[in-house]
Amino acid sequence: MNELNLNGKVAVITGGAGVICSVMAKSLAAQGVKTIILDLNKESAVAVAGEIEQEFKTQSIGVSANVLDKASLEAAAMEIKEKFGTIDILVNGAGGNSPMATTKVERMEGTDNENPEDTFFGLKEEGFDKVFNLNFKGTLLPTMVFASGMVRKKSGVIINISSMNSYRPLTKIAAYSAAKAAVNNFTQWLAVHFSKTGVRVNAIAPGFLLTNQNRFLLIDEATGGLTPRGKKIINGTPMERYCLPEELTGTLIYLASDLSKFVTGIVIPVDGGFSAYSGV
Ligand code: NAD
Repeated sequence: MNELNLNGKVAVITGGAGVICSVMAKSLAAQGVKTIILDLNKESAVAVAGEIEQEFKTQSIGVSANVLDKASLEAAAMEIKEKFGTIDILVNGAGGNSPMATTKVERMEGTDNENPEDTFFGLKEEGFDKVFNLNFKGTLLPTMVFASGMVRKKSGVIINISSMNSYRPLTKIAAYSAAKAAVNNFTQWLAVHFSKTGVRVNAIAPGFLLTNQNRFLLIDEATGGLTPRGKKIINGTPMERYCLPEELTGTLIYLASDLSKFVTGIVIPVDGGFSAYSGV
């Protein structure tokens, strides 16, 4: 018996053209999974799918859709159904932060000459909505669209991509942290809701990687070295380094496969010890 039971399965990976999820898609393809790289950026999605077909000789396509637009997800779902039938695995990876939803200072001083624009009071509603929606509604809507086929066939796996911010928020990024906390809560809620349907729902909470979404906070543009914030993250990570995308794939394969048949409603940290460390 193949205890993974992944060969021939069909997976949709949202944000599949990104740094983390392209590597996740490749790790599924390496197990014989047919992969749909769903991304806002069609060109990159098609490029990742091409790399997968070449490297792993498993079917892969790039599909353009917006995780915040249900109609575009439904159109993608139609295209996927025609080419692959029903899907077995959904990885909700599209997400990220934006400077528009990031405060300039970590903590308010509370002094009279402090510029409110640099603090919580300078956060723009538009920026907050953008980041909150991308991370939370961008998980909710693809799940609504792609999980119905799983429930009908009484089998499927949903894996949400959360963050360390979901447990304890990092300074500056209130909307991102709130959204990832909501993703954890939703993971638990949906796991219970689906518990009798054969569909499992779990999440991965990665530690810190150097990627497009956080480079502006962690790398000093002028010197190319770590910012003080970047250094703080390393100091808060007992393993003293950033995570590599490849280091998330073991947990992904575990959650996607029959190895975790009785596991639903959990969030697994993959963080080099960050969440365990008090800093002392
Ligand atoms: P990334 O920016 O490299 O990839 C995100 C992908 O999502 C991009 O290809 C982008 O085109 C796509 N995307 C953005 N908006 C979209 C939309 N509306 N519809 C469809 N696709 C959209 O980001 P990443 O660092 O690889 O992050 C992937 C996931 O991992 C995110 O959920 C992120 O929050 C999470 N995460 C990242 C880190 C980190 O340190 N980088 C840590 C923890 C969690």
